[in-house]
Amino acid sequence: MQAFPVLLPSGARYWTVVDDDVRPVPTADHWLRYLRFGKDRAESTTKSYAGGAALYLSWCELTGRDWRVAARDLGLFILWLKWTSSATSRSRTKVVFGPGSEIVRHERRTNTVLTAVRGLLAYAVSVGKAPTWVLGQIYNLADSSSLPQEAQGESGGLFYRMGARHRLPEPESDVDRASDEEIVSMFLACRNARDRLIVLLLSRVGLRRGQAAGLHRSDCHLLPDSRGLGCKHTGAHLHIVRRQNENGAWSKSRKEQILPVDFLVVQAFDQYCDERHARLGTGGSDFLLVNLFQKPLGEPMPPGAINEIYQALNRRARLSRNVAPHISRHAAGSNWADADATLDEVQALLGQKNPESARPYLHPAAIRLREAVERVPSPRVR
Ligand SMILES: [Zn+2]
Repeated sequence: MQAFPVLLPSGARYWTVVDDDVRPVPTADHWLRYLRFGKDRAESTTKSYAGGAALYLSWCELTGRDWRVAARDLGLFILWLKWTSSATSRSRTKVVFGPGSEIVRHERRTNTVLTAVRGLLAYAVSVGKAPTWVLGQIYNLADSSSLPQEAQGESGGLFYRMGARHRLPEPESDVDRASDEEIVSMFLACRNARDRLIVLLLSRVGLRRGQAAGLHRSDCHLLPDSRGLGCKHTGAHLHIVRRQNENGAWSKSRKEQILPVDFLVVQAFDQYCDERHARLGTGGSDFLLVNLFQKPLGEPMPPGAINEIYQALNRRARLSRNVAPHISRHAAGSNWADADATLDEVQALLGQKNPESARPYLHPAAIRLREAVERVPSPRVR
């Protein structure tokens, strides 16, 4: 059993689960297709779910359990996940390592796998491929009589409310903002205009790496007035559009966004255009960020290449910690807030639907915290 990408003739992609003879596993395949095309979920979501479902189905196969009702032993599955690598599970060897062996999957990854298992089983129940009582194996079912009177509603009937039965507590990890010093050191460590533009797109425009890699040249309106291009938005700006891109880049926001950019970013664009023209002439794909220094020249950069560039910049700038692309986005959100942007402005710039989603991006600068303390006058007796 393993997750497997499927490319349809239309160019649309999703991930499925195939068995050892590379045949799709029917119910899992229906479920993943339904998520991708029926619910318009991202390709990356089907990838993560297919991976989780493949692990669950492998475990069922190896331990001789019927996958439709095996959720009663999810506790054992969690233990198996913790200690069994994908390679060992496929090779069918029965080597059991003793104490001190390395943990293969930590809490966060295990919870992702469990989410996939619940999704698969709940779908199987909904289409009649698994008995209804399976839901009781994966969710806590309760009637509404334990709710406070106000929350019970007027009909007085019994309601089920569901919470996942199996979920591991995850250690809280602090995603911090990249500091200005870190961003400037990385910017100075760049060896070409393209990488400088990438650093600015992430840390100053606040793009996700998938949005940056998915930019087409026609999305970038950098003139003060773009009406000649058929666009009514004033000032230099970028259009962030969700597309099925050949390089796998995907914008997480469903809605098209218009993001204003400042003169620093426009300048970086200018220098990159010169560089790109010097290396490719008018050729290359319509994607903005393309291979300029390695083959195939002119082909769009995949989102993963942005991580590789960041790793190289981290190394060259000798940063004391790893500054990943997403931390740059946190820096953008925090910098806007430090410069007195309101929460609704930050929310719109980050492309968040819900104001609360923007909050984790706000890390007030230390100087602002100090100023908040110092603004309070000394206490006096009147
Ligand atoms: Zn425009």
